[in-house]
Amino acid sequence: MNAPYQPSASLSAKISRKLLPMRARRDIRVSLKRPIVSFTFDDFPRSALYEGADMLAKHNWLATFYVAAGLAGVHNHHGHSFTDADLLYLQTKGHEIAGHTYSHLDCGQGGEHQVLAEIEQNKSALREMGVKKPIEHFAWPYGTTNIANKTALQSHFKTMRGVTPGVNRGRTDLNCLKSTPLYSGAKLSRATDLIEGLEKRPGWLILFTHDVRGNPSEWGVTTLEFLTIIDAVKTSGATVLPVGEALEMVEKQNG
Ligand SMILES: [Zn+2]
Repeated sequence: MNAPYQPSASLSAKISRKLLPMRARRDIRVSLKRPIVSFTFDDFPRSALYEGADMLAKHNWLATFYVAAGLAGVHNHHGHSFTDADLLYLQTKGHEIAGHTYSHLDCGQGGEHQVLAEIEQNKSALREMGVKKPIEHFAWPYGTTNIANKTALQSHFKTMRGVTPGVNRGRTDLNCLKSTPLYSGAKLSRATDLIEGLEKRPGWLILFTHDVRGNPSEWGVTTLEFLTIIDAVKTSGATVLPVGEALEMVEKQNG
């Protein structure tokens, strides 16, 4: 198993990550009377489906899976990745299948042509695996991108999701939606706090994780922790929707 790739930690990369939220935006207004929560899984490991999504199904909740087709069948730090059959199971259950780069390319590093080629390769690979619906939403691998790629992808997807924690409310950038990690241990409290705050200040909270299992990676969560998150969301009174349906509800309520 190779060490997981980490995006650049150089000073220039840090500065451009800091400035990027202000640039190449596609703003909408999010003002909601009742909060919305979207559960999302990235890449995706099999445990996200057979632990994570199956737990959501007990509440009749559907999730969004940002799939990198090039990871099909591999075994990495998140455990076993999905197979073609898993993807079809996901589709049968009604979950939303969304895009990622085919090989999990870092869009903060890749040029515009390379990134566009990767997203097309991903879309056609998913179609070949049997995915029927169009791929309308996207998550930036590692949450990284740049101005050229933010601009280039906006005509290809209704939304692109980042990994900056927070609730989407007020002026919201569809080219980099905020999304809060469900990472095991102390880091989980950020998500819990945001869920608890939703009742007082409604908004659209997107949660993301990778593996859901007994001994998760540092980018995953335990089954028990995932259950506590489900309970907290239930208590918040939020409507739980996959990203596509959540966007439709936001647009309906905000003209
Ligand atoms: Zn990813």
